[in-house]
Amino acid sequence: MLKKNKIMDCVIIGSGPAGYTAAIYAARADLHPVLFVGMQPGGQLTSTTKVDNYPGFYEGISGNELMENCKKQAERFNTIIIHKTITKVYFSDKKGGIHRVYMKKNEENIESKGIIIATGSSPKFLGLDEEKKFLGLGVSFCATCDGFFHKGKDVAIIGGGDTALEEASFLSKICRNVYLVVRKNYFRASKALQYRISKINNVNIFFCSQITKIMGNDFLEGIQILNTKNKISRTILISGLFIAIGHSPNTKLFKNQLNLDERGYIIVKKGSTSTNKPGVFAAGDVQDPTYRQAITSAGTGCMAALDLEKYLCFC
Ligand code: FAD
Repeated sequence: MLKKNKIMDCVIIGSGPAGYTAAIYAARADLHPVLFVGMQPGGQLTSTTKVDNYPGFYEGISGNELMENCKKQAERFNTIIIHKTITKVYFSDKKGGIHRVYMKKNEENIESKGIIIATGSSPKFLGLDEEKKFLGLGVSFCATCDGFFHKGKDVAIIGGGDTALEEASFLSKICRNVYLVVRKNYFRASKALQYRISKINNVNIFFCSQITKIMGNDFLEGIQILNTKNKISRTILISGLFIAIGHSPNTKLFKNQLNLDERGYIIVKKGSTSTNKPGVFAAGDVQDPTYRQAITSAGTGCMAALDLEKYLCFC
């Protein structure tokens, strides 16, 4: 139970792999963490069917089950889990200062010496009908996570930046044909990546193209592509569609409080989870534009709890 007016040691914002891992470590270090679940309990993994690359689950595990297990583990060590969303924050500039998080604008709030931000990121959708229906049933945001399910099959990727080309390169080694759908008539990716892609035989590139339809019954079966220059439409039969048009870190709340990079990710000190405010740490996708995996999020969640524990020792 949360006691009124008590200053906490550890408040965690977010209930994805980073948040729950931070909670498990913080609770076992007697920091009595309070974790805010937010609008997506369990985080991004709850929108996928099977997670096959999280160590320890050799047959794979459903995203929901994995996150439910994480929640139970955090509860086992008496983490206080609050099913609310943080709407405003005030972070102190002073070492040992007290931070405040609000659950309703200017009303209900909790004070804490330490904060762990694990609000994750949200993948950008194309905005097409059926896109969400086939999420986890052929539509994916992560080739590293889901590429293996399409071994020897045909897949498509939409996007023209570094991520899309990295995904295409990765998938070309597993899949039969990779169709790369690019909205513009050029890539935004680095020259080195463009060169690498141009040397791969099974990557077929469609510039000036957009996906107009996603088709299938129980699983994704194909897409319709429109060439925006000559207005010719074509259908491609694929088992997987990888959307690589970017992610948005969930950092709106921290805009005027923390240093963010040009894409909005929280900047942390190299090799740690420290932000520019003493006692405020960031873990998971919210500070990671590169790896964006459940295991790396869990890893940095652990780091954040250890960093906070150390910080509190010196305050
Ligand atoms: P998230 O999982 O993004 O969780 C963020 C949490 O913050 C949520 O609980 C949300 O409610 C909460 N939150 C946000 N704002 C607030 C607020 N204001 N107040 C309170 N709470 C808030 N990775 C893999 O390793 N393997 C896979 O197979 C895999 N499959 C994926 C499939 C899909 C469809 C997607 C979208 C991602 C997949 N990923 C996979 C990536 C993985 O899900 C993420 O890397 C990971 O979930 C990031 O964890 P996180 O804890 O940083 O944040």
